[in-house]
Order: sequence, then structure tokens, then C-alpha cells
Amino acid sequence: MNRRELIKASLGAGAITMLGCSKVPSNEPVVEYDMLDETASKPVLKRELFPDPVIIASLELLNYGESYMVRVRSKDGATGYGVCNNLHAYYLYPVLIHKVMPLFIDKDARDLDSIVDQVFKENYKLQGLALWIPLASAEIAVLDMLGRMAGKSITNLIGDRHHEMIAIYQANNYRGRTARESIERIKENVEESQAKALKIKVGGRMSNNADSLPGRTEELIPLVRETFGRDMTLYADSNGSYDAARGIEVGCMLEKYDYAFYEEPCPFDWLEETKRVADGLEIPIAGGEQETSMRRFRWMIANGCIQVVQPDLFYFGGMIRSTRVARMAEAAGLEVIPHISGRGLGNIYNLLFVASLPNAGAHHEFKGNPRIPVESDTSSLESKQGEIVVPTGPGAGIKIDPDFIAKHEITTI
Ligand SMILES: [Mg+2]
Repeated sequence: MNRRELIKASLGAGAITMLGCSKVPSNEPVVEYDMLDETASKPVLKRELFPDPVIIASLELLNYGESYMVRVRSKDGATGYGVCNNLHAYYLYPVLIHKVMPLFIDKDARDLDSIVDQVFKENYKLQGLALWIPLASAEIAVLDMLGRMAGKSITNLIGDRHHEMIAIYQANNYRGRTARESIERIKENVEESQAKALKIKVGGRMSNNADSLPGRTEELIPLVRETFGRDMTLYADSNGSYDAARGIEVGCMLEKYDYAFYEEPCPFDWLEETKRVADGLEIPIAGGEQETSMRRFRWMIANGCIQVVQPDLFYFGGMIRSTRVARMAEAAGLEVIPHISGRGLGNIYNLLFVASLPNAGAHHEFKGNPRIPVESDTSSLESKQGEIVVPTGPGAGIKIDPDFIAKHEITTI
């Protein structure tokens, strides 16, 4: 008797129904680890595009106000830029200068996959945002440089181009407002972006089952469907609000109103609880924005803990590591909808990454237009009718205003 049958026999059908809306729980692995390991160990950077060594001569950290960016130069004078995640760079940049940048110097940029792994090996005690945001910033600068050298987009350095346009979802965060107040704001946001999908916040955020305002979640879930009709794709994010039992209850409401995914029902590191929610519901569970470990992503993918995989380019250490996760997800038949945080150029880097994914989900996060002066010959970088054209020019496919770059100073402490 397998575990599923055992649970059925010991609890009876009525109890099973109480565990979730419709699904029977299971602890059976969904995917073999070997298959995930094989795909995750394949090279990401297309080294064959570069016949000669590209020796990295310098990395510099440039700062102006809240803006931080990495400039890389090769011994032959090629240059690239990686704009940091500026929500976090102001307090993490010493890690970049002292722990990350030195490991790139005098290395062959064609070995970027192994440089990334070496940065982890030398700094594993820092695994988390503290290491991954600095690493991602340096890695993106190197990819930008390599792309400019080869005349190829970053998308084509890490994979093949699968998407010319990316459909976005409108993110909303009005937890402090009632359901009725929230819906008015959400309508304004959707009007502006013309998005064909939107994501609401449910629960109170890491709140042990408490709602942000009493009854808000129960009122908002049907109200959003009623307001936007059947054609709008709806997602919901609880930001770790619930234990497994309450998570399943809220998930049942989302299923009733045909929401398309349910993000972080339980605190992000409550993996067993998240899996219980996934086992108890039909709605796909989304997660991974806080995930900093390749091994835990592997476990979550192999064990059916999440069905929509959401690495964040910065929080997970860049394009190469995120591509490995995306490939594991693909092997497991799962979609990837990366998380991306605002400010800096995260939205643009995310477009380049998503364009390389054969298993990208239908709609992607977009947190507004860049706050720094940047333009592209191949994209307006703005949402039109809910879609953004992916830049296709060399490297990141963008030009950061040189006058803006010139305002920055090199930071060395
Ligand atoms: Mg989230």
C-alpha cells in the first residue's frame, strides 16, 4: 500500500476532502533527482561564441546617490555594465568590493560559469542576499561585456531566444487598505499598464494566519474576479501568511474563483508546510523569490512543493544560477515566472532572462519603468497593451546615459 492509499484508508474519504478542495495528498517524488542534476550541470554561457580568451582586467564599483553599478573591463578594452539592485546595494556593496570582485580579476570571462561557482565556494557562509546580489551585479556586467563583444544579446549568451515580447502582470500591494479601497487602486494600475493579468496580496505577510485587516482576504478574492471578469488572469500572493491548514482554506477560495497561481502560502522556509498546501490543492503553488540555495530549489522541484518556479536574478546570484534552476524546472515540466524587485534595471535584466526560457509562464512581474536614464534601440522598455518588447541589441541591449554614468564616483572601501 503506498502512502496515498494509506492516508485514504486511515482517514477515510471525508477527512481527505477536509485536507483540501479536491486533491489527494501524496509524498511521492514527482521527478527523479538524476534528471535534474544532469540538466543543472550543463554549461550555461555559450563559450563557443568566443574563440579567444577574454581576460578580465578590472571591475569597478561606481556610486552616485542611491545608484550603484559595476563596470568591467577586459585586457583588450571591452567594457560592460551591471546595475546593482539598488534597494540593497547601499549596505551590501562592501561584500561586492572585498569578497566578489577580486575573484573575477585576471580570470577568463569565458569561464563565467566556474567563476560564479568559485565565488560561492569561497564565500558559502554568506549564502543569501548578502552574497547573491553582489555576485549578480558583477556577473551581469561581464555578460553585458561579452554580449557587446560578440554582437549578441545576453539572452543568446545563456540560451536561445524563445520570446520577442513578454506579457506582464500588474502587481499590487494594498494590504493596508480595505478590499473596496484596494479594488479602486488596482483598477487604476491596470488601466495604466493595460496588463491582462494581475496579482493581489492576500493575508497579512508572515503573519501567523492574521489578515492585514479583518475579513479583507475573503472579500477581496471574489471582488477582484467580479470586477475584472473571466478574461483577466488572476494570481495571489500571501507572502508567507499562513500555516498549512489556513493556507489550504485560502487556496480553496482561490480555486473557487479560478486564480491561476498561489504564491508563498506559507513562510518561505516552511518547506514541509508548503508541500502540504501543494498536495492539498489543484491550484499551482508559486515560490522561490526568497530561495537562495540551489539544493533547496532542487528539492522543491523534485518533490512537488512548487509548480511555478520563481528565482530572483539578484537574490539568487545572477543569470547563470537562475538558468540552472529554470532548466531543472523545465525537466520537471514546470513553468518559471521569475521574481524581480524594483529600482535599478532589474526589470530589463528580467526581460532578457525570461526571453531565454522555453518554459516561461504566461505573465511576468514588472515593477514600473526604470528610474535611471536608459534607452534601447530595439524596445521602448514600456508596457504597451500589457506587453513589453524584449531588447535584442548586444549585451543588455540598452544604453545608460553617459552623463548619468559620469556623475558616479569609483568606490573602493
Ligand atoms: Mg511574492
